[in-house]
Amino acid sequence: MQPRNVVIIGSGPAGLTAALYSARANLKPLLIEGLEAGGQLMLTTLIENFPGFKDGIMGPDLMGDMRAQAEKFGTEIVRAHVTSVDLTMRPFVVRAADQEYRAKTVVIATGASAKLLGLESERRLMGRGVSTCATCDGFFFRGQEIAVVGGGDSAMEEAIYLTRFASKVIVVHRRPMLRASKIMQEKARANPKIVWALESEVEEIRDAGRNEVSSMVLREVQTGRLTEVPVSAVFVAIGHRPNTALFKGQIELDAAGYIITHDGAKTNVPGVFACGDVQDHIYRQAITAAGSGCMAALDAEHYIDGIPEHLQT
Ligand code: NAP
Repeated sequence: MQPRNVVIIGSGPAGLTAALYSARANLKPLLIEGLEAGGQLMLTTLIENFPGFKDGIMGPDLMGDMRAQAEKFGTEIVRAHVTSVDLTMRPFVVRAADQEYRAKTVVIATGASAKLLGLESERRLMGRGVSTCATCDGFFFRGQEIAVVGGGDSAMEEAIYLTRFASKVIVVHRRPMLRASKIMQEKARANPKIVWALESEVEEIRDAGRNEVSSMVLREVQTGRLTEVPVSAVFVAIGHRPNTALFKGQIELDAAGYIITHDGAKTNVPGVFACGDVQDHIYRQAITAAGSGCMAALDAEHYIDGIPEHLQT
């Protein structure tokens, strides 16, 4: 069987934009969407900063429309989880759900996943009051006191969102200063339902024995003093980790595990391109992910056409 022109791994804004552009270039791309189809925007509500939607658009609606647009122009979409890739072979090999796909080019758009605190109690209570997604699970904690861990924009956003449901939201952050942008800090500080546990770390989440969250044990960073605080849920919002385990040892990654790209979406392996959060730890926006997906598709098209790099602009 002929190798595919383009195999895209991942179905967030980066992957779907790469699919749209390569489909419209007649490359008949195959997109393997993974088991968390649509990526992180599936876990959000209203998106107000994606240009073109002056009244905002719901995350899942935006992703549904992007998917339909990519399909309309001929993208073949497979719902499967990629289990391995071989980027040393030509054509490249991508394996998913007992299928083996051969590809002239591969576009990696596997995004990033939520980081966890690493506590045993957090692992045991995940989905039982411990969550990484306020928009998915906030609804379950109406009128209750809950916690959000983290001091970045994600934590502020989640805390503000959760005040719609909770009677009180305790933000737990390990330093005295927040990392979040000024505007998000101001919004959170102005919200009367949000209270602050700064210079504190979560030592344990209870009660794993009863399979529900009843409290968290906080440790004051300066003094080491432990306090048990009753809460019904703990939302962990401490950042993300790039989904690059599949590519380790085959492609150049930075110290944090993000794929290193240069001159657009090119990686150190000719014919392999990366876009979206898997290669971007700075901007991480839907629009920048989509923009880099477009770059990856154009780079792949030029590569397939054999256009020399210095003439590719
Ligand atoms: P982030 O900026 O990396 O912040 C992560 C936060 O979690 C930091 O405050 C960090 O503490 C804390 N943290 C990390 N590991 C921890 C651990 N093991 N235990 C306790 N605390 C821990 O991540 P983010 O908030 O997800 O934001 C990522 C990017 O997306 C940022 O560029 C952000 O601006 C952007 N973003 C923007 C919006 C928006 O504009 N609406 C919304 C969400 C995200 P330290 O501060 O002590 O390191």
